[in-house]
Amino acid sequence: MRLKTKIILICSLVVLFVSAICSMAAFYTMRAGYLDTAMGQEVQRAADCFSYIEDRIVNLQLDRGKIDRNVMEYIIKDTAVKAGVGNLACFYINHTGEETAVYNDTIFESQDLEQADYQNVSDHLEQTKIKRGKQYFGVYRSQNSSYSEYQIYMLADITYVQNRINLIGLGLVVLILFITVLSYVVLSAMMNKVLSPLQELNASAKQIACGNYNQRIMVKQRDEIGELSDNFNQMAEAVEIRTHSLEESEKRKTLFMGNLTHELKTPLTAISGYAKTLLTVKLPQEDKEEALSFIYEESCRLERLSKKMMNLLLLEEDGEIVRKQISAKELFSSVQAVCSGKLKEADMEIECHESGQMFLVDRDLFVEVLVNLIDNAIKVSSQGNRVLLTAGEHSITVQDFGKGIPEEEQEKILEPFYMIDKSRSRKSGGAGLGLAITVMILKKHDCRLKIESTVGKGTRMILQFV
Ligand code: ADP
Repeated sequence: MRLKTKIILICSLVVLFVSAICSMAAFYTMRAGYLDTAMGQEVQRAADCFSYIEDRIVNLQLDRGKIDRNVMEYIIKDTAVKAGVGNLACFYINHTGEETAVYNDTIFESQDLEQADYQNVSDHLEQTKIKRGKQYFGVYRSQNSSYSEYQIYMLADITYVQNRINLIGLGLVVLILFITVLSYVVLSAMMNKVLSPLQELNASAKQIACGNYNQRIMVKQRDEIGELSDNFNQMAEAVEIRTHSLEESEKRKTLFMGNLTHELKTPLTAISGYAKTLLTVKLPQEDKEEALSFIYEESCRLERLSKKMMNLLLLEEDGEIVRKQISAKELFSSVQAVCSGKLKEADMEIECHESGQMFLVDRDLFVEVLVNLIDNAIKVSSQGNRVLLTAGEHSITVQDFGKGIPEEEQEKILEPFYMIDKSRSRKSGGAGLGLAITVMILKKHDCRLKIESTVGKGTRMILQFV
């Protein structure tokens, strides 16, 4: 059963229960009051009848012990007409105690009246209720000393009272049902309004489950449901970001694996091809040497590649680095020492500019970063060009005057195995991993790499410390 239906049903049942209890209390109070008033009036009428009968007996100077049955019938009828009662029952009691009706215009037998449960209302009067098709209220003169042979009852038809009470009861039942139905309708409308954000929440959760992670809810209320919607949005945001980053990392991994396989396959195919030729074909000495030197070069390339791969993996796995304050001067001279051979080979010079700046870095890793960048600068520059190494307050810049990097390539070259000119890069010993390793090391130093480059003029690689 849905939550909305449950709440509505529970509330409607509570309304039904409470209104039923209130109505019952009101009904019984009204019923008692109504009956008491009606019976009080009838008791008064009966008392009047009995005193009228008494007066007639006195006026007619009758012998109280021996009143003729016809006379008694006349008195009773007369009383009934005068009092407007019409329901007087009079029974003659003979010496053995048997009763016969003297006057009785009702359908009562003497047994009905005998079996009734009388209650005292005054000195000589007792009252009771008798059911005989209709509801009768009876008053009985209990201590009849004046006309001891006769027993007289005044019987009033109070069915109308009972009918009215029944009508009131029915009215109350209808009222209860009406209140319950009304409360059901009002509650349904209210619940629809109150629970509509939950329905929205439900629909959004389904959408997210189907992969639409950008699904959000408009928060309209500032209550618990509003809070829930807020939290849901935050959760959806977190799920979207996480899923996006997982997708990205999955894509990167797939690309990485594809590139790695390719990079490994190319030299291995060449090595195995040359080795097979050496084994199966008798080559002149010159060709043999050429084949062997090719195998050697490709093996070296594989070795370099595996070293770089190891570096990349170690950097990814081992999160901690040891940072120490080091002056720019010391850092630059270490870099110069490592790169001097290659610079000389390319007939290039490195110009260092620093003014005593200090950097909090892992010395070896940071030297590797700068060597990578200078290495790239040498590869893309022409003979005789310079490379500038400049320390700023919170930055270090490596500038070359080489061929530059097209704008659309500037982000791509940071990806592992990405090379702008693959064959040239491979020839110069590259595998497209240098900048990927550089970015990873910089990340561990809270440092970012900014590329400013103009094609044909050169590139500035700026390392900015945050
Ligand atoms: P590799 O190890 O093969 O040099 P990198 O990741 O260091 O790979 O560089 C990726 C590619 O970016 C290189 O193949 C090169 O084409 C390009 N590149 C890097 N630095 C520069 C630069 N200073 N000027 C022009 N192109 C560059």
